[in-house]
Amino acid sequence: MHVLNLGILAHVDAGKTSLTERLLHTAGVIDEIGSVDAGSTTTDTLALERRRGITIKSAVVSFPLDDITVNLLDTPGHPDFVAEVERVLGVLDGAVLVLSAVEGVQARTRVLMRVLRRLSLPTLLFVNKIDRRGARETDLLREIAARLTPSLVPMGTTERLGTRDARFVPGPVPAALDVLADHDDGLLAAYVDGTLTPARVREAVAEQTRQALVHPVFLGSAVTGAGVGELLDGVRELLPLSGGSPDGPLSGTVFKVERGPAGEKIAYARLFSGTLRARDRIPFGVGTFTEGRVTGLSVFEHGADSRADAVEAGRIARLWGLADVRIGDAIGEPPKEQQRFFSPPTLETVVVPGAGVDPGALHLALAQLAEQDPLIGLRHDERRRETSVSLYGEVQKEVLQATLAEEYGLDVTFRGTTPLCIERPAGTGAAAEFVKGDGNPFLATVGLRVDPAPPGSGVDFRLEVELGSMPYAFFKAVEDTVLATLAQGLRGWQVTDCVVTMTHCGYCPRQSHAHQGFDKSMSSTGADFRGLTPLVLTDALRRAGTVVHEPVHRFRIEAPADTLGALLPVLGSLGALPRTTDTLGALCVLEGTVPAARVRELEQRLPGPTRGEGELESRFGHYAPVTHGPVPSRPRTDHNPLDRREYLLNVTRRVGS
Ligand code: GDP
Repeated sequence: MHVLNLGILAHVDAGKTSLTERLLHTAGVIDEIGSVDAGSTTTDTLALERRRGITIKSAVVSFPLDDITVNLLDTPGHPDFVAEVERVLGVLDGAVLVLSAVEGVQARTRVLMRVLRRLSLPTLLFVNKIDRRGARETDLLREIAARLTPSLVPMGTTERLGTRDARFVPGPVPAALDVLADHDDGLLAAYVDGTLTPARVREAVAEQTRQALVHPVFLGSAVTGAGVGELLDGVRELLPLSGGSPDGPLSGTVFKVERGPAGEKIAYARLFSGTLRARDRIPFGVGTFTEGRVTGLSVFEHGADSRADAVEAGRIARLWGLADVRIGDAIGEPPKEQQRFFSPPTLETVVVPGAGVDPGALHLALAQLAEQDPLIGLRHDERRRETSVSLYGEVQKEVLQATLAEEYGLDVTFRGTTPLCIERPAGTGAAAEFVKGDGNPFLATVGLRVDPAPPGSGVDFRLEVELGSMPYAFFKAVEDTVLATLAQGLRGWQVTDCVVTMTHCGYCPRQSHAHQGFDKSMSSTGADFRGLTPLVLTDALRRAGTVVHEPVHRFRIEAPADTLGALLPVLGSLGALPRTTDTLGALCVLEGTVPAARVRELEQRLPGPTRGEGELESRFGHYAPVTHGPVPSRPRTDHNPLDRREYLLNVTRRVGS
């Protein structure tokens, strides 16, 4: 069984959905071609996607191509979902990047190409819409070479460009030979000798495409079908099939999780190695692994998915039975590809229930969405009965709003978007409280020290006391409470990039009394450690001090060179700092940083000074200390260990009960 896992990627509106439909039709999987404009396509599952005409969630459709089963994985098209795109790319064997022959290279196309090249994923380019008026060829190929990748191999030319009758004429293009010869000395020699055959050229194209050294270019139209057959030939002959031994150790990646009609979790996994059977018990997770039994399996075949008893390396399977599975989990042995860096969410907003919406039901729905998808972060404020979500961009709000309305019947709005800051310790701080010490109502001794750690290192918990000196459950209670308490630092933000060391520990053991068993009130419980730890930790943090950092994006803007003068003041007013300025023909290229909170505004204001021709790319860069204006803070959602009196009032009442 030969399998090829393929992704189609594009800037919004380039024609990804139309091309998918056309491919499925050409392959004979669907009888009729749906129309995006009429909202009847196969891969756009969400009604929202139909309305907006954009594709957000990845779905799998398969079609046969001779003896190969091609699994077509849909990928999101909006920059807010770049993290989701990267997640899907990790399970692909090859990709088709779609461009419009009219609009040419767009901001999103560049972002995608950069990611594809970083991953060395074999990629074909498809220049779509050659039937539209204003479609370009020579000039466009030059633009692609200059702005996307110089390693282009045009696989043919067009006829009657820009008309309904536009055609793709496959055949050797002389310029392609130069590019191929760069990586293949024999090719040039054969050309000079006059012994170069079309088969030899085709072989070189395939060889170099599989190594992601070159990118073959096809031209055509998803609407008329021109060039689509040739693109399919290219997919079959030029892209690598998925490999992996079915006899090897089990290894795969979960790239999507959804719920079935009965609410059961279904995981989509790509298998890199081994064979998975229904009823197998398998480990899954990221970092720490849990085990679960697979109760059902299905694979994609002929446009539908069908039940299977076993799934082999290379394929994509749907798995039932893993209740705690999340997107991004490895199954079996973690594949090497898993150590990829995902950008953190940098914005946050409060979800406001609409009239008649029960906050409890809303919280439950949000929790269910978040549980499947690590990209959705939730924070629940018990006191205000409010839930906020972390975001990668504004579009994510609309998606969430529509999902809640359509899947759960819940109407919501959002309060304004704010940056999601972090706190890092400014220095070292330590504190300790002892059993029966002054003002310590808990039967526990806890000493903690907070030290700063390098950016990006996260939180580490260590012991400087003997592990055997008290029951393990108490250590565990301290560690868990430390991690939970750090979710809200002195200003209410997640504290990170620090090491917390336990320097003191102690407890009251159970004491037997000769006559009446033992006195319960005199022995420590986990609750004592959970109660005391937040007080000691916030004391230590206070001594260390924290610095609030805001998320900063790296940006890249391309705009007509003569608009630079008008552009710079706009950047300045948004707190954007251009660090390098370059020219690329008639374009200027600015690279620099901008606070995450201002990215949206920058996007909206860019067209003004650049006559609508400015293109912005931005992605998370780093966290920077907030230097001007008031230090941002956010309200706490816990019992506030910063206020000892209030905290004890709330907590000891609970411990006592
Ligand atoms: P997506 O956003 O990349 O999925 O793009 P769609 O497939 O939704 O197409 C965007 C718009 O371009 C729709 O109005 C399509 O009808 C139109 N379109 C897509 N492909 C072609 C094509 O080859 N020729 C022409 N003339 N229009 C196209």
